Amino acid sequence: MSLVDLPLLPLGKGRDLDAERGVECPGDLPAASDPGLVERARAAKAALGERVFVLGHHYQRDEVIQFADVTGDSFKLARDAAARPDAEFIVFCGVHFMAESADILTSPAQQVVLPDLAAGCSMADMARLRQVEDAWDAMADAGIQDSVVPVTYMNSSADIKAFCGRNGGVVCTSSNADVALEWAFAQKGDGDAKVLFLPDQHLGRNTAVLQMGIDLDECVVWDPRQPGGGLTPEELRRARMILWKGHCSVHGRFSADVVDELRAQHLGIHILVHPECTHEVVLKADLVGSTEFIIKTIEAAEPGTTWAIGTELNLVKRLADAHPDKNIVFLDRNVCYCSTMNRIDLPHLVWALESLVAGTVVNQVTVDPETEADALVALQRMLDLPGKSHRD
Ligand code: SF4
Repeated sequence: MSLVDLPLLPLGKGRDLDAERGVECPGDLPAASDPGLVERARAAKAALGERVFVLGHHYQRDEVIQFADVTGDSFKLARDAAARPDAEFIVFCGVHFMAESADILTSPAQQVVLPDLAAGCSMADMARLRQVEDAWDAMADAGIQDSVVPVTYMNSSADIKAFCGRNGGVVCTSSNADVALEWAFAQKGDGDAKVLFLPDQHLGRNTAVLQMGIDLDECVVWDPRQPGGGLTPEELRRARMILWKGHCSVHGRFSADVVDELRAQHLGIHILVHPECTHEVVLKADLVGSTEFIIKTIEAAEPGTTWAIGTELNLVKRLADAHPDKNIVFLDRNVCYCSTMNRIDLPHLVWALESLVAGTVVNQVTVDPETEADALVALQRMLDLPGKSHRD
């Protein structure tokens, strides 16, 4: 087995530019113990001035977020970058698929930098183009391909978005997944439409069942590691939702048992979770929504109320710090930070910024023009969807 066949490459080992996997991070990083790192980052950013625009995803560390010009979810950040065409360099403190999206949505003159190329996303990596094309062929063999509309979550690689663009599909976020599904089912018009939902089975299932009223029995899971996805042609023909077997390694770990424990311990506690959590957890929650929804819900909450939040720990800690008048706890003792998001630390940010000051663009993320054009088709279909905001 070669390194690139591993489900996840050991971080920093090997190179697989077709995936979200860990790839080598070249360069001499400053030592994490260097007491001057904050000052060095500040100085480098000041030297670059308007030429650089630093984006910080909600799940990033505090040490990095303090240097972000804007914070947000992946789609908001990509759009913020596109709204700053004067910035030559977009330093994306997030993960690889987010930097790809920023490259797709910004002008060719702008260069997108990911401070550590090992910051991939395990969920995005669970759907690879070759696997998805095999599944698509199997759907043709089962006689259903013409009825299937592919829908991919924003948290997917550019080539999966491009696949959706080429095949009549759309991108969605966790805020508009229901609208995207409605749109997808309406595309076929004959009542036989099916959706192939990539790559997060939980977002797909939660949206289909809880927001669209689709029966759990009409949802099947395509496992790319099984021959035929682990499904018979008859199961494929009966399904309305074909869920890709992918998940978020952070949100997928919250458990329904802990929800029960917290409810027993704290009278009146509100359980607020992200829809990437499992169906069992979402069923037990009081409120479910995107990171932006979670932030707004806590901002609007009454002082003295108690909340358990099921999303990435950096965001939960910042919410707890920002709202000392509310009792905010993390939903699970055993779930920790997104390890790949956390690859972006102060040494990598300093290294990326100082390299730009010295005239060297390091760790640039680019999407080839053909993939970009097809991915833009799927992204544009999302932007054309009615109603909701487009946040993940
Ligand atoms: S939190 Fe989950 S979906 Fe987000 S980058 Fe980490 S692994 Fe990917």
